[in-house]
Amino acid sequence: MPREYLKKATLTSNSDASETKKIVREILDDIEAGGDAKALEYAAKFDQYDGEIILSPEAIQAAAAQVPDKLRRDIQFAHDNVRRFAEAQLNTVADFEIEVVPGLIAGQKAIPVSGAGCYVPGGRYSHIASAIMTVTTAKVAGCKNIVACSPPRPGVGVAPAIIYAAHVCGADKILAMGGVQGVAAMTFGLFGLPKANILVGPGNQFVAEAKRMLFGRVGIDMIAGPTDSLILADASADPMIVATDLVGQAEHGYNSPVWLVTDDRALANEVMRLVPLLIDDLPEVNRDNASAAWRDYAEVILCADRDDMAACSDDYAPEHLTVQADDLEWWLDRLSCYGSLFLGEETTVAFGDKASGTNHVLPTSGAASYTGGLSVHKYMKIVTWQRATREGAKPVAEATARIARLEGMEGHARTADIRLQKYFPGENFD
Ligand code: NAD
Repeated sequence: MPREYLKKATLTSNSDASETKKIVREILDDIEAGGDAKALEYAAKFDQYDGEIILSPEAIQAAAAQVPDKLRRDIQFAHDNVRRFAEAQLNTVADFEIEVVPGLIAGQKAIPVSGAGCYVPGGRYSHIASAIMTVTTAKVAGCKNIVACSPPRPGVGVAPAIIYAAHVCGADKILAMGGVQGVAAMTFGLFGLPKANILVGPGNQFVAEAKRMLFGRVGIDMIAGPTDSLILADASADPMIVATDLVGQAEHGYNSPVWLVTDDRALANEVMRLVPLLIDDLPEVNRDNASAAWRDYAEVILCADRDDMAACSDDYAPEHLTVQADDLEWWLDRLSCYGSLFLGEETTVAFGDKASGTNHVLPTSGAASYTGGLSVHKYMKIVTWQRATREGAKPVAEATARIARLEGMEGHARTADIRLQKYFPGENFD
């Protein structure tokens, strides 16, 4: 049986980005030439903000005092989980050394970058969890200079809970500036900040484009597009939970695709009946996002069997992938393209988004076919080193000289020759 689209998207998120590119290029060039003053000008223009830019310890304390006790405990809980998971990841980046040939030792070291610039989005929602995900991971990786930046709300500043979370998780500086100007300030080292070596964290199309344009001068974690989610569900799934999970992810934005892939027509029909009802029941702003995302971007796909469902899911390479089906081990073994996988009804994407420990900065728009999400590894430079005894150097120098001469690189060959002549005088090397 061929796959059947019970609901097909009318739009895709690959919209024309040329206008965004023009805007971002102009802002970056202006700020690089104009420094702090230009960055402040853009902050005033886009966020109507003229308050403190690098938050002082007093401002951080004042923000902490505004965060209710219960939320503080929640932030600490999420931070502890993300730190525990990142520490486990760190143990898998192993330094090693081996004796390649007798007398020549070569090794690998994982060295964290020094400066991490963590973007914490704050335009539409206060993404407290993005502060936890990016700053905690940078801290566990061992970055020495961690800057968190987030857009201030006009007349109010950065949300106190974002300031509190960034501080608790280990940010060395907090910058009350968002968008292109925030990214530029961290990259160019404005306002006395250390220059970032890597920019991480999600953001809107302007933030993503700024990271794309600056890539090369700095490292980046990835280019994030609109968030997307796919649910694999069979006849054993609870349609109300499937529908609630789809709506929960559709609220991210008007262009956030959610996809249901199933081999059970009755389940699909019931979910499609429930989703509009659940969307209608959301508060207004969330409802507007979720209903546009469901109308224009959502898809419901009926597959022949679970092999076809898995193949379909791999084709989409979703950012978030949920399985609500029998035999979770089979799915874990079979699925190969996703940013983060949620197995079984007892966990859900929102757990990973907020507090369960795995990172929520994940590849979107199919990028999960070639990369995973943010981890301590993204902050690490895997570098190599070597040293040799004179005996160990001998066969390598002989081979190097011959290869270099064949390549026409006489200067290279002589760096080998000079060692052979010094260490083994009188011997003949051809
Ligand atoms: P944001 O912080 O990314 O962007 C706000 C900034 O955009 C403002 O400070 C302003 O400077 C700039 N801006 C707005 N309009 C502009 C214009 N016309 N020209 C130039 N600059 C302009 O916040 P947001 O807009 O709410 O976007 C957050 C994004 O992050 C969403 O797309 C959301 O889906 C995404 N997100 C993704 C994840 C993930 O892990 N994938 C997690 C959280 C958030």
